[in-house]
Amino acid sequence: MIRNPIPWPNGARCACAITFDMDADSLIHISRPKDGHERLYPISMGRYGPTVAVPRILDTYRRFGLKQSFFIPAWCIEQYPDAVDAMLKDGHEIGHHGLIHEDPIETRGEAQRIAFEKALDIHKRRIGRAPRGYRAPVYNITQQVIDLLVTHGFLYDSSLMADDIPYLMKTATGELWEAPVHWGTDDWPPFAHYAEIDYMMPVKAPSEGLQAFWEEFDAQYEAGGFWVGIWHPFLTGRLARWRLVEQWLEQTLATKSVWFAPLEDIIAHVKDVTAAGRYTPRVESLPYYTASQLG
Ligand SMILES: [Zn+2]
Repeated sequence: MIRNPIPWPNGARCACAITFDMDADSLIHISRPKDGHERLYPISMGRYGPTVAVPRILDTYRRFGLKQSFFIPAWCIEQYPDAVDAMLKDGHEIGHHGLIHEDPIETRGEAQRIAFEKALDIHKRRIGRAPRGYRAPVYNITQQVIDLLVTHGFLYDSSLMADDIPYLMKTATGELWEAPVHWGTDDWPPFAHYAEIDYMMPVKAPSEGLQAFWEEFDAQYEAGGFWVGIWHPFLTGRLARWRLVEQWLEQTLATKSVWFAPLEDIIAHVKDVTAAGRYTPRVESLPYYTASQLG
């Protein structure tokens, strides 16, 4: 059970978002800065996302009338304009996902601020508005990035794991909503195999990998919660996996009371019902720590 389920629109039992992080080949350039540009196999594996998988995914969304969220490093926004234009044409949300997938734990201080704000400028110029949501590359958000999000008026983050359902984070500088993620609905563990970035997993059969996500959905549905997939076009957008996702979507939309929406709409709804006094979110106070706990 969930102690404080959120009242979803139109009596829906569960809010759902499939979020795709369109990292494309940013991963190989950031992890192998010296020779990433010469490594054609990982470049091609990443390029499959914007060029082959995204059109397939958008086609499915169009067929089912879904609007969803994509998080994209700003470098990829400039590198793959056709994929971005197609998302915008269909009304999907595009969130901030770093400049070129730099890890905030590795890129701190002034370098992080510069990268974050440069990415923000590319979003504004290319997409025509500031993003409302952010997901940290490899979930590695830091207090510095939380403060940058608050300063720049972001509505929400989607990198943290402190609850099953959206919650509110309060800091000295302001508030930020969290649309929580977790590894149980992330497609890296079942489907990624990427020696060049030291991530080698036994790739699961499509049905087995996806089954874990559907069991997570069943629990959230029963509890009246929030289900979010954290997926990547070059992984879950591959032919055999996406075919099964399509079948699941068709069946779920036909038989369940679910609200599929972009994360920005889901969080805006939680904020609205909270402001109206119809809901009291759980609050996490940040920062968690201001110094090492090892003395
Ligand atoms: Zn990513």
